[in-house]
Amino acid sequence: MSRIHNVVILGSGPAGYTAALYAARANLEPVMLSGHQPGGQLTITTDVENYPGFPEPVMGPQLMEFMRAQVVRFGTEILASAAERVDFSRRPFTIWTDDGKELQARTVIVATGASAKLLGIATENDFMGFGLSACATCDGFFFKNHKVMVIGGGDTAMEEANYLTRFADVTVVHRRDSLRASKIMQDRAIRNPKIRFIWNSEVAEFLGTPHKKLTGVKLRDLVTGAITEHAIDGVFIAIGHEPNTNFLQGQMAMDARGYLQVEKGSSRTMVPGVFAAGDVADSIYRQAVTAAGSGCMAAMDAERWLEAQEHEAVTAIDAVDGASPVAGNASVPSAAATPVTAPGGTPGR
Ligand code: NAP
Repeated sequence: MSRIHNVVILGSGPAGYTAALYAARANLEPVMLSGHQPGGQLTITTDVENYPGFPEPVMGPQLMEFMRAQVVRFGTEILASAAERVDFSRRPFTIWTDDGKELQARTVIVATGASAKLLGIATENDFMGFGLSACATCDGFFFKNHKVMVIGGGDTAMEEANYLTRFADVTVVHRRDSLRASKIMQDRAIRNPKIRFIWNSEVAEFLGTPHKKLTGVKLRDLVTGAITEHAIDGVFIAIGHEPNTNFLQGQMAMDARGYLQVEKGSSRTMVPGVFAAGDVADSIYRQAVTAAGSGCMAAMDAERWLEAQEHEAVTAIDAVDGASPVAGNASVPSAAATPVTAPGGTPGR
């Protein structure tokens, strides 16, 4: 029988690393699957200025390397794999990875984050990094004194557009004639003289040489159907994010957008013993520091849950044997598979 881990953490962003830090320091010997993008979204960011403790800006990749080193120091085992499939219907939980591993776990902390949504245009991936970006903070600097477009009409798009005016002239392209963004963000963008808007339009095609350089876009007017060509140096797609939860479909309760649902004020999901932290369960704040905080909560919730299970096991043995078990020696009765409340059941305590 393969080893049953106390805690398996899925994902290696600020939420995953903080969960690992707390779990490791609680002697739970956590195992982390670092996922498809080890270090998470901050690894494609440049200066991070809003993570406390760094009076000078810290580079995103550097910050994540600090977090990795810190959890390794306390004995976290990090596997360079991503979870591909899980079975949370029975305990111990089973996780299958993209490189053929099968792990068993008493508790799981899901911290797989969220990814920027893309438009779904055929050549999109070919131009990514060659004039096309989904992160103004990461790539804005490269467009100094150039012309860029921002696609989208939400808060992310307005924030990206405003940020980009430090470097470039910005055109926001939105598919409707009114913005989805909050009033304050709209006002700020509309008042910014370096931002202009093209309404009721979508990108029909990227122009340029794929894998070399984007030089422009064709836009489709969604009212008239007219196609227009625009010379442009950079395009920033800012149409929102989607949580990385596809592999959990049917296993966990999610909202309509796929974000994991947790019990208010905790990291507990509907599956007892499975916890969620970071952007995967947070469509609102989505900050490194809030993700880190919720990672801490998840590790503490997992620790308490394991303790409660252990206590229940001791009480059950006590009742059967009439004997007094030695404190600390009782183990969680997880070797035999135990059915778990299905998604939609009572949140795990
Ligand atoms: P969002 O509110 O869902 O807005 C996405 C925008 O992209 C919408 O305008 C949408 O158009 C457009 N869009 C979606 N799919 C598209 C497609 N395929 N082609 C063209 N346009 C497309 O996402 P968000 O802006 O990332 O915001 C998400 C949440 O984070 C919100 O609650 C927001 O308030 C919050 N947030 C807050 C801040 C802040 O306060 N500083 C910053 C960023 C995000 P439609 O309007 O037509 O649907």
